[in-house]
Amino acid sequence: MAAEREHEHVRVAVIGSGFGGLGAAVRLRRTGVTDFVVLERRDAVGGTWHDNTYPGCACDVPSHLYSFSFAPNPDWPRSFSGQEHIRIYLESVADNFGLRQHIRFNSEVELMSWDPEELHWTITTGQGHQYTADFVVNATGPLSDAKIPDVPGIEGFRGKIFHTAQWDHDFDLLGKRVAVIGTGASSIQVVPAIQPMVEKLTLFQRTPAWVMPRADRKISGVERWLHRKVPATRYLRRQLLWGVREMQVSAFAKHPNVLGLIETLASSHMKRAVKDRALRRKLTPGYRIGCKRILLSNNYYPALVKPNTELVASGLKEIRGNTLVAADGTEAEVDAVVFGTGFHVTDMPIAHRIKGADGMTLAEKWSGTMEALRGCSASGFPNFMTVIGPNTGLGNSSMILIIEAQLNYMVDYVKKLETLGGKSGKVALDARPEAVSAWNEHIQDRMSRSVWNTGCDSWYLDANGRNTTVWPGTTAEFRNVTKEVRLEEYEVKRRQPSRGAGGTVNSAVRTARTASTASTAFHAAEEG
Ligand code: NAP
Repeated sequence: MAAEREHEHVRVAVIGSGFGGLGAAVRLRRTGVTDFVVLERRDAVGGTWHDNTYPGCACDVPSHLYSFSFAPNPDWPRSFSGQEHIRIYLESVADNFGLRQHIRFNSEVELMSWDPEELHWTITTGQGHQYTADFVVNATGPLSDAKIPDVPGIEGFRGKIFHTAQWDHDFDLLGKRVAVIGTGASSIQVVPAIQPMVEKLTLFQRTPAWVMPRADRKISGVERWLHRKVPATRYLRRQLLWGVREMQVSAFAKHPNVLGLIETLASSHMKRAVKDRALRRKLTPGYRIGCKRILLSNNYYPALVKPNTELVASGLKEIRGNTLVAADGTEAEVDAVVFGTGFHVTDMPIAHRIKGADGMTLAEKWSGTMEALRGCSASGFPNFMTVIGPNTGLGNSSMILIIEAQLNYMVDYVKKLETLGGKSGKVALDARPEAVSAWNEHIQDRMSRSVWNTGCDSWYLDANGRNTTVWPGTTAEFRNVTKEVRLEEYEVKRRQPSRGAGGTVNSAVRTARTASTASTAFHAAEEG
């Protein structure tokens, strides 16, 4: 006989305790909702900032912007903080806002299904707990599941293999021959951090990246004192950082040709460190800057010209014993391989574990192309929203701004459920398919003019070649379009308590506007 699972009913279940999950917990408590849990698969908070501990790991968005508006930190030690400071910041948010009582550590969601009769979610964790929840916030984030390519021969490699997000700190790199695969944001931080300690570093570059200087510096004691004593100074600093990034959006989203100017700056940044013309040719991208994420580093190029570094300008194709073979035939025998090959962003593994109203998983529903209303709600998945959902990503600014905007939406969603259902009555809001389609058509239409769709192959694009990750607007606009749940975009499902068991009634409320007129509102928001 199967062991009986422990069961708990909560009003809200939040999945994940990174920036999104902790932010959701703070906002729920501030709204007066205390009947909620945060399910966290690890034994600590932090999400991607807990997992990524690779040497050199840091954020390329300034800390005074890459932090919650409701939890300012006057003591950031550097303009661009390292992973450990960000992780500690998140621990302090969990402590200072009384969140620990809600967090269930070592609780990995194994399956989550919508019960159309009871109008709630049933969540089972791999550790044997069962929860039911009226509302679920999926805050697992796009950078949570590491991706290692299925390279032929990988299982026969006799050395050490790990992903940047699963760094093995027990493995001593000193004096080893190490290959780093990939030239994304993670790899370009790892390369300069490990180059001085390894005997030989071979970097497999399938596509070169545009790299710009990183204006990183120590925050002086005077600045920190000012930020502590005169809060307006840190507010001003944040506003300046935000404003500059808002002004860049038009170039990325509407006028990619303007970015040619930035390419000149990036090229001279490379030229200053790399004197060898042939090496510069290998490192020069053949696509418009910004199409892939622009990388920031002052020490990446200098590390590439060190005598113990070799750049293989070709992707890893095969592994034969301890020899790595590139697509162009170059071979390198190594002791360890570090995969800086990114994450399952457009094919989030958790989508296979979330079953909606008709029994389909979110992954089946999406079939390779994620879609959600205002980046939050997928049709057929009532009382559920994703933080950093489809088309909410930014290439140039702080994701915390997007997260906080989505949390406004979450608060309004929870409030509307309460208003519509009363405290005891059950009600569910399910995004109308036509509203989801209208929203996504609008996004894709705008995307077609953007730099992200100028022909490069990036992780922003899904298996169907659609850009389902980036938000093609300013953060102010995103905040505006997520400030409230528009009921005309949802079907309201009610379960009348008076009808008793089996008395479920699905009654779509009258809609004030049709989905097509809602789509007109998107344009108004864009222009406003
Ligand atoms: P990524 O940007 O997806 O980069 C993956 C890299 O692996 C790409 O260069 C890709 O090449 C390469 N690759 C894949 N298969 C390969 C193969 N067989 N041979 C050679 N190269 C191969 O992943 P990431 O660097 O982990 O960054 C992911 C995201 O995390 C970033 O864009 C950013 O949003 C975030 N991040 C942020 C920071 C920060 O400072 N805030 C730091 C780290 C990460 P192709 O380009 O050819 O596909």
